[in-house]
Amino acid sequence: MAGVRILLLGGTSEARELATRLVASGHEVVSSLAGRVSNPDLPEGDVRVGGFGGPDGLAAYLTEEKVDALVDATHPFAEHISANAYAAAAQTGTMHLLLRRPGFPRHPEYVVVPDVHAAAEAITPGSTVFLTIGRQQVSAFGHVDAKFVIRAIDPPSVLPPHHVLVLDRGPFAFDEEIELMQRHGVDTLVTKDSGGAATAAKLEAASQLGLTVIVVARPAVPEGAHVVESVEQVMHQLVR
Ligand code: NAP
Repeated sequence: MAGVRILLLGGTSEARELATRLVASGHEVVSSLAGRVSNPDLPEGDVRVGGFGGPDGLAAYLTEEKVDALVDATHPFAEHISANAYAAAAQTGTMHLLLRRPGFPRHPEYVVVPDVHAAAEAITPGSTVFLTIGRQQVSAFGHVDAKFVIRAIDPPSVLPPHHVLVLDRGPFAFDEEIELMQRHGVDTLVTKDSGGAATAAKLEAASQLGLTVIVVARPAVPEGAHVVESVEQVMHQLVR
């Protein structure tokens, strides 16, 4: 199936990999980015930046741009755009695929919580916390009595009183994660269940050092969506 017009909702490493594969296969690809990161790694093919204006705006885009297939390869925690994408595809009869990489391997000792607010409540007062949830929800930890080592690509706009900011972009290696955790005396890791090889080493490092690990569970995917787990599976479905 060559020459298909694809809107690829991105902002993840798999979306970039997928764009490369789709362009190489002769498809017309437009990657869409939200515009949250100041200096994004740009994918191959065409790129557009910014919201569509809700599901109706996205539906209008699909129609106007004569999109054949909508591939949602956004981050597992970007739940609004995924809901909008599913609704807009249904509204316009556009083929829809949702790429969701598997979550991190679960260990029984992880403290699994439903959202970042519950993660904040689960922190033992006086802890030194490695907070790796991106920058958008850091404000949920502002009232917690703990020292935070916060890693994000861009600085959060609201920061807790006691913090160290580490501005960095993955992938992160196991040895680097051990070194960072030890250097700052971290005893607790707070992470979203993002999954993906680029950020998995922090969990292995935390287990090795015997840290408390608090994992924010993923939001549900839109009910009825066709979900695949890998770039390979998206390519396979598009060929079919
Ligand atoms: P979100 O809450 O699901 O989306 C909020 C709004 O931002 C959407 O309603 C949409 O605006 C716009 N938007 C989001 N992703 C878009 C995209 N790829 N292209 C065009 N518009 C988009 O999303 P979020 O959690 O803020 O994440 C924003 C982006 O960052 C996503 O593309 C995601 O892949 C990436 N990202 C998110 C996380 C995370 O932890 N949430 C981590 C890494 C990367 P309209 O309603 O106006 O269309």
